[in-house]
Amino acid sequence: MTQHPALTPAAIAQRLAAESQRFIASHPQSMALADASSAHFLFGVPLHWMRDWPSPASLFVQQAHGARLECVDGHGYSDFCLGDTGAMFGHSPAPVAQAIATQAARGLTSMLPSAQTAEVGALLAATFGLPQWQMALTASDANRFLLRWARAVTQRPQLLVFDGCYHGAVDDTLVDLAAGQTVARPSILGQVHNHAAFTRIAPFNNLAALEAALADRQVAVLLAEPALTNCGLVLPDPGFWAGAQALCQRYGTLLALDETHTLSTGCGGYARVHGLAPELLVVGKAVAGGLPCAVYGFSDALAERMRQAKQAAPEGHSGIGTTLAGNALTLAALHAALTQLHTPASYAPMLALADALAQGLRQCIAAHGLDWSVTQLGARMELHCSAQPPRNADDVRRSSQPALESLLHLFMLNRGVLLTPFHCMLLVSPATTAADVQKVLDGLQAFLA
Ligand code: PMP
Repeated sequence: MTQHPALTPAAIAQRLAAESQRFIASHPQSMALADASSAHFLFGVPLHWMRDWPSPASLFVQQAHGARLECVDGHGYSDFCLGDTGAMFGHSPAPVAQAIATQAARGLTSMLPSAQTAEVGALLAATFGLPQWQMALTASDANRFLLRWARAVTQRPQLLVFDGCYHGAVDDTLVDLAAGQTVARPSILGQVHNHAAFTRIAPFNNLAALEAALADRQVAVLLAEPALTNCGLVLPDPGFWAGAQALCQRYGTLLALDETHTLSTGCGGYARVHGLAPELLVVGKAVAGGLPCAVYGFSDALAERMRQAKQAAPEGHSGIGTTLAGNALTLAALHAALTQLHTPASYAPMLALADALAQGLRQCIAAHGLDWSVTQLGARMELHCSAQPPRNADDVRRSSQPALESLLHLFMLNRGVLLTPFHCMLLVSPATTAADVQKVLDGLQAFLA
């Protein structure tokens, strides 16, 4: 990265302190609520990650609609974080809000399938292209369950993931690649099991390393995002997925694509848009318009193997499923989302606006003489502090600038723009407007000036 004179560590620290003061002065209600919430919530928030934003206290939310969010101090924000994808179709999309209100009066959960089940199954098949489905409440759970199925049907012990992956709070996947070895991710709390014994890691975009990991035919499943989105947005090289898919087939390894974030690519997700044929597919977060829900789909051939594995097992707990999964409220929201949000009509404006934003970001960094780059996957994009877009997690680690990113996030937040707290990621929704996009570009322009 070119060292811009205003971007030395000391200058960044000084600016960050000034932006923190600005937040404190303009957010008295959030500051007070942070204090009050600390009495009974660890770190003052319902989930400790909510403190991962760079602001001196959490921003407490009054309400959110479409691509706009309002905090308890009455400030409005153009939201490009969108709940880290949960609100990718906008906050409280009208068809989903309506379906939730209607179903809420008719029973929330019964541990029985609701009347909409058959229709939702057909919609999932039509939208994502796989014929068979099961439900979970979160993408973490869906991934956890598909790992069990994959190991059960293949009778193979190993899982393969890409370095820099994130598939939720799934113990088996929370590993890193260090000097060619799989190691437990050092940040994981309470880790006692050695997942490195059953999980292998390969660098992304490296077919030779992938083949080396698969060659002994011990890998049940390759679980992967079509593009890495959680260590930064890393796009697949042209031909990478065709090659990876062929290798999985050659060595009898199932291919499971986690489309939880890559749903941003286009209607139906990356695999649909690019003609990939995974045996398993996971979609969480935004799949039901923001209500907790995840689904995983699979081929007919795999469904048959799953049936046989279940029938062959003794009666009792399968280790797959949770009580509230597939509840009536979630099914109603999912039905509304599949019919009215997962459509070419809702993707068209969001993809067009995302293109305009990515182009504007590139123009802005070029105008300031910075050799930074932008990667884009449909409605999602990321600003990288490196001239070359990263090809794997190592590239991201080498070029990341955590202090600078924190400063940019807080600077933008103080000017009414929310970026995803992790990396410099922006997501455009169907409700985002050209004015929201202009606000980002004006903010970045002011930041760099
Ligand atoms: N898969 C992917 C690709 C994700 O990005 C995430 C969350 N960032 C998850 C799974 C887990 O989702 P959740 O936290 O909703 O379980």
